[in-house]
Amino acid sequence: MTDNQLTDAFTAVHGGAPDGIWAAPGRVNLIGEHTDYNDGFVLPIALPHAARAAVRRREDDLLRLHSAQADGEVVELTADELRPGTVPGWARYAAGVVWALRDAGHPVGGVDVHLDSDVPTGAGLSSSAALECVVAVACNDLWDLGLGPVELGLLAQRAENVFVGVPCGAMDQLASTCCEAGRALFLDTRTLTARQLPVDLAAAGLRLLVIDTQVKHDLADGAYAERRSGCEKAAELLGLAALRDLDPAGLPAALESLPDEGLRSLTRHVVTENARVEAAVEALLTGDPAALGPILTAGHASLRDDFLVSCAETDLVVATANAAGALGARMTGGGFGGSVIALVADTDADRVAEAVAAAFAAAGYTAPRVFTALAAQGARRLA
Ligand code: ADP
Ligand code: MG
Repeated sequence: MTDNQLTDAFTAVHGGAPDGIWAAPGRVNLIGEHTDYNDGFVLPIALPHAARAAVRRREDDLLRLHSAQADGEVVELTADELRPGTVPGWARYAAGVVWALRDAGHPVGGVDVHLDSDVPTGAGLSSSAALECVVAVACNDLWDLGLGPVELGLLAQRAENVFVGVPCGAMDQLASTCCEAGRALFLDTRTLTARQLPVDLAAAGLRLLVIDTQVKHDLADGAYAERRSGCEKAAELLGLAALRDLDPAGLPAALESLPDEGLRSLTRHVVTENARVEAAVEALLTGDPAALGPILTAGHASLRDDFLVSCAETDLVVATANAAGALGARMTGGGFGGSVIALVADTDADRVAEAVAAAFAAAGYTAPRVFTALAAQGARRLA
């Protein structure tokens, strides 16, 4: 999708020309899953896959929203009438950002929007955050709000939490607004301190495959909220502000004091996962990206056995990729389907992809989609 094609599509839908074109990427998280709502650490990279939007500021307060991936209708809303939980369908992700900006006191009015995204939806690659963040950066520029990437990401998260009603942490939106090309974003979700860590897998003869199972299990929504409230309950019982405050040395005693195995295993995942992020950061800082492999596989085992958010398809990808020579693999994103990342030597990439395809065919599953993840630039103006 070139800028000209996007402009033409905008003109066909809205008439006239857009004021500009913006992009915001999807992401894969290298490690640090289900830690962002526990005040913990995450380590995502932005993908080249992005939501792109041609946008024009309006003088009234109408929102006229169109997506190339939706069913053709222009969704028309009034900014002043936006209320959490009242907008159905995909448009709530875009409208929610306008609501969050206005609710925070920013003087944002109406917009004409044409969106086109190549972030696969529901694949654990964060298409919803890409959509939110592209609207956020466009409004920031069109109304000259002067907000930085962290503020924009947090407003986009608020749109998803409050307006859409998904209790996600801040990783997806902050990855989309803050990531830099060629870097992984080491983010402390409590302090919002961010470090951009060079990640040059190619120089080490490695690559990161994204294997999208194309599976999305329905239980996901309630299950996510359940995990989150379980973590909060465990922290409360342990007398901590968040599970982030429990360090690995204190884990055995803390586990003994918790009343049931469910809370124990949630706690064990979060504490060990934060430690895995720190180990992954060390691997990147010491120029040893191959050391990420076992960290990824250990992270998957923890999500599968303790956090209980993997599924047969993602488990099969991880086991098959590792058996075919991957250095390590894990599910990425919230779970219950979605994508797996596998760290592989360049020379093994085809063999791993073929082994996974064969295993899926043998199991009667739909063929997975496979691509190589390159660390791309976060949200930005294109034209
Ligand atoms: P994920 O963020 O992991 O892809 P979500 O369930 O959080 O999955 O978000 C997917 C939803 O985001 C879709 O169901 C749709 O409502 C919305 N969405 C994402 N991309 C687009 C798009 N290009 N056009 C319209 N809606 C989109
Ligand atoms: Mg999402």
